Amino acid sequence: MIETKPIDGKAFAANLRARIAEQVADLVRTRGVTPGLAVVLVGEDPASQVYVRNKAAQTLEAGMASFEHKLPADTAEADLLALVARLNADPAVNGILVQLPLPGHIDSTKVLAAIEPAKDVDGFHVVNAGRLAVGLDALVPCTPLGCVMLLKHHLGNLSGLKAVVVGRSNIVGKPAAQLLLKEDCTVTIAHSRTRDLPGECRQADILVAAVGRPEMVRGDWIKPGATVIDVGINRVPKEDGKTRLVGDVAYGEAQGIAGLITPVPGGVGPMTIACLLQNTLTATRRQNGL
Ligand code: NDP
Repeated sequence: MIETKPIDGKAFAANLRARIAEQVADLVRTRGVTPGLAVVLVGEDPASQVYVRNKAAQTLEAGMASFEHKLPADTAEADLLALVARLNADPAVNGILVQLPLPGHIDSTKVLAAIEPAKDVDGFHVVNAGRLAVGLDALVPCTPLGCVMLLKHHLGNLSGLKAVVVGRSNIVGKPAAQLLLKEDCTVTIAHSRTRDLPGECRQADILVAAVGRPEMVRGDWIKPGATVIDVGINRVPKEDGKTRLVGDVAYGEAQGIAGLITPVPGGVGPMTIACLLQNTLTATRRQNGL
């Protein structure tokens, strides 16, 4: 029987944030440059409010400047685009993040396209997606960046490993696959139309689940000894009427089969904001020619 070890994303992210804070302090001391992150929230979506609050708190803890812009839900698209243009031109702002989802009357593709690619710390702009696809330096979406950091830390060289990414969103699945390809993995991207999804998953040395379906990936879909990265965050009801968080992988069933697995919560989740700070630091350095 394999001993399945959990990957402690919370501890790794705390360590990464501490290293980023040291580098920020160094940048302030030696160059007089304080990285600045602007976060724009439109409307009152409760989950988005929590994310934005956490992002601002961790930005300040890292020694960066945080600029929060909270706009009412009925903000006109033109007014949001005007704010993005002001942030693009503001030298104190090195990174811009527009919290998704945006209210229905605003075209999020148009808004994301308006962000200056050099300040696009979410990595969603087509210029950054394209640069990643052709192997140039890019600002890379935070969650997949965090997944690959965890993989490299625990497995070392990923070259030649067979990776299966379940999910093909622009935010997680596609950039995760691109990053794994960059690490010389042999990559398969699976999705809702994939034939024999369990069979595809069983081939994987590295299995990344980014689907948004509670515990869809069963224990017998996992190759013995594989490393499983569970990106899913799903809230499911408990018997007492409350809710709990589960991933896209049946965590209990994976025990004794997977070699390493990220738990939910405490695995990939904490890496996302840490990588946002990393991207803000990277963007600041590049904007200052460092
Ligand atoms: P999307 O809904 O944008 O994409 C889901 C993907 O899963 C799609 O490509 C879809 O395929 C595929 N899919 C859906 N059902 C099936 C199925 N039955 N079999 C195979 N594939 C399927 O989600 P996201 O990529 O944005 O997010 C995925 C999960 O990750 C969610 O749980 C989300 O909450 C979580 N997440 C976590 C983050 C974190 O910080 N840890 C950050 C971002 C997301 P198709 O394209 O064919 O429809």
